[in-house]
Amino acid sequence: MIPHLSIVVPVYNEEANIPHLVDRLIKSLNGLNMPFEIIFTNDGSIDQSLPLLLDASAAHPAKIRIIDFKGNFGQHMAIIAAFSAARGTIIITLDADLQNPPEEIHKLVTKMDEGYDYVGSYRDKRQDSFFRTHVSRMINWVREKITDIQMRDQGCMLRAYHRTIIDKIVEGKEHSTFIPALAYKLSRNPTEIEVHHAERAAGESKYNLYKLVRLNFDLITSFSIAPLQLFTMFGLLTSFLSGFLVCYLFLRRILVGPEAEGLFTLFAIAFFLISVVIVGIGLIGEYLGRLALNLSPRPRYEIRTLYENDQ
Ligand code: UDP
Ligand code: MG
Repeated sequence: MIPHLSIVVPVYNEEANIPHLVDRLIKSLNGLNMPFEIIFTNDGSIDQSLPLLLDASAAHPAKIRIIDFKGNFGQHMAIIAAFSAARGTIIITLDADLQNPPEEIHKLVTKMDEGYDYVGSYRDKRQDSFFRTHVSRMINWVREKITDIQMRDQGCMLRAYHRTIIDKIVEGKEHSTFIPALAYKLSRNPTEIEVHHAERAAGESKYNLYKLVRLNFDLITSFSIAPLQLFTMFGLLTSFLSGFLVCYLFLRRILVGPEAEGLFTLFAIAFFLISVVIVGIGLIGEYLGRLALNLSPRPRYEIRTLYENDQ
């Protein structure tokens, strides 16, 4: 039977969460009385996640499908791979660590039934560390200013998408992206609702500082060239100001004589401008790197095995 709902879950070393997640998912989805499937992508886990997923699929053969990646391609690629396997009309993403309660899925489905093609969500009380919560609030603010994407809480993954959006995402060839934002760009009639958020049930966050910075660069550079434009504007401003300075020093030299004071002030200004230039070169590199990746003929991810026992 073709499912109406496809639930998509990326999994990276979540052995301590999988049994509870599967139980809670199956229970809440059975309560909805509509055909569903759950697609897990095992994103190169090196713990017992895959055997546990296979056990779950043996216990619920017609409901669970598993995509096993050859390595770790990242949360968003894991979701895209599951999107390309999903058969439902409504596709819902959530995290495997039970931070997004499966019991909230019905709210998304009810909202989709009102005719929206994208139901995003914001967390009523975010249960993450002080550092994560505040950095993410800042990035949210920056994204709000420099892109035309309107969402209260880009980081919450408990979201529902209509098939039409998923088809477009799968057709696209972006190598690194940020799905909630990409889907928003492709949607025609988006909305958002409030959902609960829990602390990670077990294990640690899979994002270290480096991965987190990379993810946020993906978010900004995929959807806006405003950082480059700000650089050009800053460059124009400093050339204008330094032009004035040159004229002033020239006149001063003629009228008053040479000046040699303020050496360290000069250093400070020079160091500041040099670091701005270095950041600028890095920024251009980010955009060029993204371009090179997206033009590359290499696949975005590689699947080792697809486990589907209902075919
Ligand atoms: N995840 C993944 N690949 C990765 C990193 C994370 O599939 O390289 C999955 C992870 O198993 C979880 C979801 O993405 O289901 C969100 O990860 P996590 O909870 O660690 O992120 P956080 O909540 O700290 O932002
Ligand atoms: Mg989490």
